[in-house]
Amino acid sequence: MIKRSFFALSKPRLTYDLLEPNPDEPQTISLPDHLTLLLADTIDSTRPALIKKGDPVKKGQKLALYMDSTAYAISPVAGTIKSIENYSDDFGKIDTCITIAHDPEKASDIAPLDISEEISFAALHLQKLPGAPPFDILADENFNIRTIIITGAETDLLTTTSQYVTTSHIRDLEQGARILKQITNVSKICIALPETLNGNAPIDSLQVLQTGAVYPDTLPAMIMKDHLDMVLPAGKTPEDMGICFIRAEAVVSLARTFETKALGFDKHLTLVDKTGTRHRIKTAIGTPLSSIFKHLEIQVNDLDRIIIGGPMRGTAIFTTHHPVTPDMDTVVIQDREILPKISDTPCVNCGKCIQVCPASIQVNLLVRFLEVDQYEEAADKYDLDACIECGLCSYVCTSQIALGQYIRLGKHELRKLRADV
Ligand code: SF4
Ligand code: SF4
Repeated sequence: MIKRSFFALSKPRLTYDLLEPNPDEPQTISLPDHLTLLLADTIDSTRPALIKKGDPVKKGQKLALYMDSTAYAISPVAGTIKSIENYSDDFGKIDTCITIAHDPEKASDIAPLDISEEISFAALHLQKLPGAPPFDILADENFNIRTIIITGAETDLLTTTSQYVTTSHIRDLEQGARILKQITNVSKICIALPETLNGNAPIDSLQVLQTGAVYPDTLPAMIMKDHLDMVLPAGKTPEDMGICFIRAEAVVSLARTFETKALGFDKHLTLVDKTGTRHRIKTAIGTPLSSIFKHLEIQVNDLDRIIIGGPMRGTAIFTTHHPVTPDMDTVVIQDREILPKISDTPCVNCGKCIQVCPASIQVNLLVRFLEVDQYEEAADKYDLDACIECGLCSYVCTSQIALGQYIRLGKHELRKLRADV
């Protein structure tokens, strides 16, 4: 089995967007009539459920399907459960979506939060804060987390969400980092910031890792290599190596929660419209994207593409009803007329994908195995596991092959195969 490390020479091509000086305040989207919460759990009609259609819910109420469910959502509003339905993710995994009819009359009905500085409390109640803090990982004794890296730098292009949250909430961020240290007992907490932002975000209490301006310098594997002198072995995650990454927004949310003794639900995100204009948004978790488009007067037509997560690493979704989630930083809308074409032209062996790959993968050979569903061979012979999912190979491909999609699907299928062994 070939186990190549992920880094090698890569040609600088794309630079991150930097936060403008004196950025505007975000536009606030008012609470919609209905909010939708996604839950990583599957409906089983043979089991007695904890919640059902028609149940009243309080603002801040924890919602789980069954007594032994670990997955949960938190209702951002008071109201009534309108529906509980299956929801299929990108790879066909069936999760659940809960739709809540918002009742403004019950707006003061907030469930009190009995704050505790235990990591188990954070994992049980605070994982759905804006920024999606990974308290499940931090609470998991199988991971020996020794370093936490707060990401104040963007991990995709066109967006500035993390930079904005960092610069506009520095004191909350520092306080959140102190709380994080207390509840996790992890002594080393750093923050990754773009070099140019550092002067605008003077953070005294944390070690600052200055990230480069060229994509994909801010991806976790690259930060580990450049700043911790650690190579992420193929098939391993940063957590496997004792490193946990957490969004700046999650750390700010933690500080706000401890200060107010109430959960927060306002999510910051950057929306890039069809003209390329960037909109800074603040809205409740669970808000359908259609409400944001309506507020911004963005017309979304059939076959326009909505991408969650940025142009290089994001995922296209099929409905404007998709809700804002705790980990959503960026939404991009592309007009159907200017969508990059995906072709069925065969590989012409131009070598561009190999030249640009930061993991030194022979992508042109790898994809041949993925195209015929030979996932184990793709991992054993052509380093599928070493891919850091930067998307650069798709970006440069002469034949416009959807290399990134093949790779993500291949990794997903490989995980399923290995789980079945
Ligand atoms: S997405 Fe493509 S370019 Fe990026 S690491 Fe994976 S194979 Fe290499
Ligand atoms: S960039 Fe595309 S066409 Fe060129 S070698 Fe790679 S897969 Fe083949």
